[in-house]
Amino acid sequence: MSVRSAMTETSMDTIPTMFKDLRATFNSGKTRPVAWRKKQIEQIIKMCEEQKEVFASAANTDFHRPSAETHLYDCGVIKNECTHLLNHIDEWARDESCSDSLAFATMDKYVHPEPFGICLIIGAWNYPFQLTLSPLIGAIAAGNCAIIKPSELAPNSAAIIAAMVERYLDPACIRVVLGAIDQTHALLKGDIDHVFYTGSTAVGKIIMKTVAEKMIPVVLECGGKSPVYVADDANIAVAATRIAWGKTINCGQTCLAPDYILCSKETESRLIPEIIKAWQLFYTNDAANSDSYCHIVNERHYERVQKLIDTAKVTYGGQTDATRNYISPTIMTNVNGNDKVMQEEIFGPILPFVTVKSQQEAIDFINARPKPLGLYVFTSNKNIAKTIINSTSSGTTCVNDVIFQIAPPSLPFGGVGESGLGNYHGKYSFNTFSHNRSVVYSPTWSEPILSKRNPPYTQKKTAF
Ligand code: NAD
Repeated sequence: MSVRSAMTETSMDTIPTMFKDLRATFNSGKTRPVAWRKKQIEQIIKMCEEQKEVFASAANTDFHRPSAETHLYDCGVIKNECTHLLNHIDEWARDESCSDSLAFATMDKYVHPEPFGICLIIGAWNYPFQLTLSPLIGAIAAGNCAIIKPSELAPNSAAIIAAMVERYLDPACIRVVLGAIDQTHALLKGDIDHVFYTGSTAVGKIIMKTVAEKMIPVVLECGGKSPVYVADDANIAVAATRIAWGKTINCGQTCLAPDYILCSKETESRLIPEIIKAWQLFYTNDAANSDSYCHIVNERHYERVQKLIDTAKVTYGGQTDATRNYISPTIMTNVNGNDKVMQEEIFGPILPFVTVKSQQEAIDFINARPKPLGLYVFTSNKNIAKTIINSTSSGTTCVNDVIFQIAPPSLPFGGVGESGLGNYHGKYSFNTFSHNRSVVYSPTWSEPILSKRNPPYTQKKTAF
């Protein structure tokens, strides 16, 4: 099946009418009542419960993804986010009154969180449901209309998103556009008020440039190379299992996946056998035939990842099968910063080891590269973790685990520098999709006091 055939692209001719309809709905005020917002979020929970097998099957067709990974990391995460927002939306959507010094005490003041209008959500393919529906929950909670543009690289998943959004959500307010670059640019040129993009840094820059003329808020959720520093005092068995898990769920195609390891030669020699042991427990000795092992999304990415493997440096794995876009869990050692595998985000199941002689060398290595989305430290000593955190910068950090910092809805999720701009999840999603409008009611009885601001300026008036 060709990549596109599973998905019927949205006709470009329909896009202007769609914008007209959404603008009319937004202006009608339909999305503002909290009751409407809650109903839509409840419907997303229902969708995830009733359609989880349909979602899993689509992602499995797209990239041989194990059903459990769609159930847990798409449906489960989305439902968690919905529940958190439902629990807090009344409080967050309320006007927030503010107190100030005596000079402003006469004024009635508050912050009114208002929706932007029409939000465009451009998704990546690797967690196809989470990366479109999670931002959508935030857009809805803040009272916006929204358009989702899922990635064309997971065409079955994209088609299911379109069908299910139409079935479960209010079509007057929420739409899905299917397609690739042409559709994305037609949407970016359209009547939008906000863009939320997830994907590569290179495309993120294009998105930002394209909408610069409009001066609308842009959130860029990108990726990069997330390093793992394993200190000599780390619990090696736990570190190995967690790194092995994070490197190969979704076949390494996770924005927060541990990209490479920094550790001493001695720690490397203890860590590698444990990582291999964990992979063998997860996928047996034959990951190619494991139903728990995902594959690379398409031929182009298979070719790209496969070219990152330097066979002379492979100490484990390295098997590939182009007919199934399969790459086995792979470890490379004696890797240095100039190797090909260190020049780009791997986004595949290859784990390079770069040895360092000290913690400071690890810090310098990290700081010599773009700020990552995730930074991981394995250590039994909180001071080591603190030193790494305070000497580097990253979108997020997790100590003694990987990826899991994305899970608690009370934490913001987003990058910094080349790994992204802005953040979301929980309250941060509500804020991301809201404009904080200041409102002041100035009482007329205060005119005798305020008249001091009026010209002509005299010394008496301006003396403080
Ligand atoms: P991508 O950049 O190829 O595509 C993302 C979206 O942009 C798709 O919807 C696609 O149709 C659109 N797009 C592609 N080229 C475009 C162009 N020239 N103009 C306008 N739109 C265009 O990304 P991908 O391959 O789907 O995802 C992989 C990347 O995304 C990795 O770098 C990964 O780290 C990152 N990612 C980040 C997060 C996060 O939450 N920070 C999550 C998942 C993936």
